[in-house]
Amino acid sequence: AKSRDGWQWTSHEGIKAGLPCAGVIHPPQSVKNFDKVYDVVIIGAGYTGLTAARDLTAAGFQTLLLEGRDRIGGRTWSSEIDGYQFEMGGTWVHWFQPHVYREISRYGMKNELAFSPDYTHKKNYFSFVTEHGARNMSHEEEIALFSRAVEKFANVDGNLGKSVMPLPFDQYSNETVYSHATMSVADRLEQIKNDLTDDERNAISAVVLVCSGGTRENSSFLDFLRWWAAGNYNYPTLLETVLGIKLKCGQSAFALRFFQEAWSSRRLSYSFNTVVTQVDSSSRDMVTLDSRDGLTFRAKRVICTVPLNVLNKVRFHPSLSRAKLDAIRHKHVNQCTKLHAEIKDAEMRSWGGVTYPNNRLLLGAADGTTPSGNTHCVFFGCSENHIHAEDDIDETLKAVNAFAEMDVERLVSHNWSKDEFAEGAWVWYQPGAEAKYLGTLRERHGPVLFANSDWADGGWRSFIDGAIQSGTEAAFTVKNELRGAQRESSIKS
Ligand code: FAD
Repeated sequence: AKSRDGWQWTSHEGIKAGLPCAGVIHPPQSVKNFDKVYDVVIIGAGYTGLTAARDLTAAGFQTLLLEGRDRIGGRTWSSEIDGYQFEMGGTWVHWFQPHVYREISRYGMKNELAFSPDYTHKKNYFSFVTEHGARNMSHEEEIALFSRAVEKFANVDGNLGKSVMPLPFDQYSNETVYSHATMSVADRLEQIKNDLTDDERNAISAVVLVCSGGTRENSSFLDFLRWWAAGNYNYPTLLETVLGIKLKCGQSAFALRFFQEAWSSRRLSYSFNTVVTQVDSSSRDMVTLDSRDGLTFRAKRVICTVPLNVLNKVRFHPSLSRAKLDAIRHKHVNQCTKLHAEIKDAEMRSWGGVTYPNNRLLLGAADGTTPSGNTHCVFFGCSENHIHAEDDIDETLKAVNAFAEMDVERLVSHNWSKDEFAEGAWVWYQPGAEAKYLGTLRERHGPVLFANSDWADGGWRSFIDGAIQSGTEAAFTVKNELRGAQRESSIKS
């Protein structure tokens, strides 16, 4: 089925909106009885919502899943085009990410893991294009350069950041971490500027901006330190964990496993194309939710998984705390552009590259071979020199060709900045915001719980792993509360 999301361009057909997606659910709505009071309503069918829906239905609770889009997966979804899986959002997974790997293993999908890099083809090099010109280097030289640069950047304590953040899944365990909490990427680059060669400065700037999707000024250093700590303070490990291993079947097939398991319990109801606009928890024992198209739903508990950058579009009664509203207004900075290009050259399969500072895309890497023998390359840009790829295809092709000459047959992408249900990509906080707002973002509002990868309490916050963690924890809390209530009422009767 085709989703409204995403777009593709080919030279013979131009731009077409919408892409095929296995995560589009038919029929889009299963709700029959609008008077029913559900145990739980979950807003959002991304990995946080899907995990919570799966766990709560398995535990015996009547659960309603409401989703504004026409598909599951949220910021993670894949599109199969001519037999090849293009990942529009979340892609790479790893056994070092405990929550996501547990699910891959649980669904018997370990045979679906595939490596993105493949250094067995002729064009086996890395293009490095800076203000000093373009040159190619081996992947070994690439790793050596980027490791040096990243280590200098992270080394705030003479111990590669390890004494400041010894436990990535408990980031504030050492209080000295707070002394770095308000530092931006630009501040950190300024601190180490005399210690960096031009190559190292360009390398670390590009890497951190690909991670943050923001600018050097508005991206927090602490978020990078957490990624670095979760990647075991080691560049090759971090690289493999965040860009190395994907699912052959595509992320939407993985997301479907969660949805189908919940559905097979017979306790799941769902409604797609249903945008929640208001959540009213002012009555003592029931939450009422209104949708944009005038529908009303009721439940004892709500798990709201609406992402940070669009949470201001939902009204809450009674009003949220001032601190939470402040956090929501603050938003996060990641406006990354992720773009796929199908290149008519099978030998590009071993290629990778960085262009900084003068290009509108920062990083490119070969990621697969399509059934027609073309190389699939994936590119990333950020808020610096930002590009809305579909608005100017010539400019986009120019940005791709700034890495190396490429004969592009197809472009595929999803504009996350213009997406009304995301307004950005994975979370990356402004300097100071993480330490200031994470606690309040995680706070519940009476019977309404807030869960999302954007404020997950783990080392892989901002990843699929964080979403699964957050959904698991919210479902666990709700399950225990509702079971407690069931026990109490059976004792009384
Ligand atoms: P979401 O996926 O955002 O789910 C929230 C859901 O709520 C959405 O479906 C949304 O439509 C819905 N919603 C919003 N508002 C409403 C409303 N008012 N009413 C009803 N429904 C609503 N992670 C990795 O682990 N590996 C990667 O390689 C990776 N790469 C990424 C690349 C990109 C370009 C992007 C954008 C993300 C990437 N991520 C990656 C991050 C990962 O995709 C997210 O962290 C994760 O998918 C978030 O899941 P979630 O359920 O918490 O939030």
